[in-house]
Amino acid sequence: MVLCGCQPAAVDPCSQFDSPFSPALAIDIENSGVSQRNLRGWVQGLTSPILKGRHAGEPGARLAAAWIAKQMAGLGLDSLTEAGFCRGFTLYDGKDYNVIGQLSNGSSGSDRPNILVGAHYDGQGRHPAGKIYPGADDNASGVAALLEVARLAKRQHSSTEKTATSGVDWTFVAFGGEEVGQLGARSFLADASIDLAQLDLAIHLDMVGRPLGPDAQNAIGYLTLSKNTPPLAQALKQAANAAGVEIVSLEDFGALKPMITDAEVFSHRLPTLLLSTALHEDHHRVSDTPDRLDYDQIQRASQLVLALAGIIADRS
Ligand SMILES: [Zn+2]
Repeated sequence: MVLCGCQPAAVDPCSQFDSPFSPALAIDIENSGVSQRNLRGWVQGLTSPILKGRHAGEPGARLAAAWIAKQMAGLGLDSLTEAGFCRGFTLYDGKDYNVIGQLSNGSSGSDRPNILVGAHYDGQGRHPAGKIYPGADDNASGVAALLEVARLAKRQHSSTEKTATSGVDWTFVAFGGEEVGQLGARSFLADASIDLAQLDLAIHLDMVGRPLGPDAQNAIGYLTLSKNTPPLAQALKQAANAAGVEIVSLEDFGALKPMITDAEVFSHRLPTLLLSTALHEDHHRVSDTPDRLDYDQIQRASQLVLALAGIIADRS
């Protein structure tokens, strides 16, 4: 567990902005593999026009945080404190939230690896002309993969048989405020109640829903962003083989590389891996819509995270 002895707040921050917004998702809880139906459901929820593009600090982003917290609760994750899944942080001109769910298979302080899976949920909000930026690839795709990995991790923890990831503890964080300076990620790293020393690896999913490029349509791009890159890159290659997923280093993508992300901020503190299918012409445009997503790619990214966790569990 990541949390160390902090006082729970009296009120669940999410409950303060709870709303009727709750699209009825047909999530298949029992599916034993990464489900594209589920991925579509998570994306559908996050790109709902009611969330108005999830711009940091606006009501739509707070609704999105509350919605993600509900999904985490529905999946059976543990909240950060008794107060709930949401952790507030200060924006330049207001407040926003990270949404943090945990999954542990035993007592705290164990030597099981603890893997953080992160994806930012905030987006571009509304175009001055009134159109909403759906932010389907950036980054409903990453949050969808995070929730689907969380569903399967919980399922594997609950299994009576030993599974690939039953020896892993997980910390799932949907970050707010990425598009306005990675403020959610910075606040998480500065949060005195979170024991970073217990985290072994941070995997950030940022835009994982498009073909990677003309020469590697089905590949998932990656960047290892820490001093500890040789063993991490080696483990990732092993995981890619195990999952049957092609991977390509984003170092080779030049201008198409994702710009500074939460992963870059994390890399100064933790071994960090970024998974992304890189920039494209719809990035930060109203044309970043759910119908343009390649759900096979989101599925591959999710499978890669689970396979990597299995490799890390084996090694420890
Ligand atoms: Zn992004």
